[in-house]
Formats: sequence, C-alpha cells, structure tokens
Amino acid sequence: MAELVAPVVDVGGAEEIARDVVVIPNRRLPLVPNIGVIGGSHSVLVVETGMGPRNAEKVLALATEYAKGRRLYLTTTHFHPEHAFGAQTFATEATFVVNRRQAEDLAVKGPGYLDMFRSLGESVAHELEGVALATPDVVFDESYDLDLGGRTVSLRATGRAHSRGDQVVGVDGVLFTGDLVETGQFAIFPWFPPHDVDVSGVRWLEVMRRLVEEHPTTVVPGHGDLGGPGILTDIVDYLELLRDETWRRRDSAMSEDTVVEEVTAVMLARHPDWAGREWIEKGVGCLFHDAG
Ligand SMILES: [Zn+2]
Repeated sequence: MAELVAPVVDVGGAEEIARDVVVIPNRRLPLVPNIGVIGGSHSVLVVETGMGPRNAEKVLALATEYAKGRRLYLTTTHFHPEHAFGAQTFATEATFVVNRRQAEDLAVKGPGYLDMFRSLGESVAHELEGVALATPDVVFDESYDLDLGGRTVSLRATGRAHSRGDQVVGVDGVLFTGDLVETGQFAIFPWFPPHDVDVSGVRWLEVMRRLVEEHPTTVVPGHGDLGGPGILTDIVDYLELLRDETWRRRDSAMSEDTVVEEVTAVMLARHPDWAGREWIEKGVGCLFHDAG
C-alpha cells in the first residue's frame, strides 16, 4: 500500500473501444478502476463507479450525457471500494444490478473495508467521505442477461476467486473482468487474515482457465492497460508460477516467512517492471494456506 496518489477518475480519457462500448481508463493510477459504459438502442450500462461519491458523480455525468435519454443501469465486478463505493450516487438515476454473493459482500464486508481504506491515507479517506453503501435494485444468482436494446450484455458470477462475489461482464467479444485480471502489476490478493480470507488463488486459477476458453477479443482488466486474450493467459501463467513456487517450498516444511521471502525474490526477478509489489506477499500467504 505504498502508493498514495489521489484515487481520482479522469473521465477526460474516455475512449470508445468498440461500437457503443466506452472505457474510462484508469491510467495506471492505484485505486482507480477501468470503468465501462455500454450502450444499446434504449439503455446504457455503467460498469464500476470509481471510489466514493465525487468520482461517481463524474462517471454518472459522463454516462448521462452519453446516454442521451436512454435508460441507465449500473453493475460492479465486485464490492471493493474503488469498484462499488460510488453506487449511492446512481441510486435515483440507474438500476443497480449485481449477483447475490456480491450484494452480500457489500452489505457484510463493506463497512469493514470502508474503515480499512480510510486508514490508507488522506487522499483515499477524502474520496471516501460521505460514502453510504448502496443496496442493489436487482440481485441475481448466477447470471443475468441485460437487454440494452439490440444487444444483450451478459453479467455472470464466476464463483469465489479474487473475492466471493466476483462477476464478469461480457458484450460482443469484450470482457470486463474486474480484478480477476490486472496488467502491468502483480495480481491483487486481498488476503487480510483474520478479517478477510475469501480470496483463493486455486479457485482464481480455475476461473481464469474458463475465461480463456471463451476467447474474448478484448479484455478490460480491473486495473491497467486493455489487451487481447493474451492478458488472460498472462494471469494464468502468473498464478500457476506463484502457486508452484509457494507449494514446493511449503511442502518441504519451510516456514511461511521464508517462503514469502524466497518467492518474492523469484517473482521480482521474473517481472522487474511490474507495480504492486506488496501483493506478492499476500498472494504467497493466500496460497500457503490454500489446501488445493
Ligand atoms: Zn478488488
């Protein structure tokens, strides 16, 4: 958690990446997600809110202007603050749709994450001022086909991986993965024992293998630059390496501290240019305690 750059969404960077699919890129800023706006003939879906009401107001303003009177929907890929803690701003303007486990995450874990993130630094605390956790309007179990008019967006719960309520959003070959995928940085493992141990490297790998099989043409990661299907296999490769390096040492009765130290060195040597180094240790900790 070294970075304390203000987590402010820059809607000026919004870019149409496919027909009626706009992405507000995170410009590699920590705690800013890639945000999507997907349009059909009568409705527009926003994917992710940005952290807190001020970021969400900017996203809502852009979406409203883009929609030109079309009906607004909102969904989020998981409950983490920079993805979902702006949903309150959309309350009277959009219909908020998420999967059931994510809705539960937001209600049960949201308050604890609000406290934890407020302690990360002044700029983060500032963006979280005035946050009231939203209640989704529509909750589904496994999948939901949202008709935007002339095109259908598929919202799917993937099962527990990066969080318990992870969800992907797919439309016409474009896949929004949330934090199941990051580029230019080490995979984010929110491993915070004893408060939160939902993340599972083993299950995350299973989910990623399924997503690879879908052969999307464009992948919008939770954080970092957009890419093709190759960024899905990059995550598979990273998670497999992290798992194998961790388990090999764990199974030879090495202490957790030593495993963390050695595997961190291996990963830094493999990816010297990646950001988010603090997540390696969390990933090793998660996998160390993952029975597999
Ligand atoms: Zn996350």
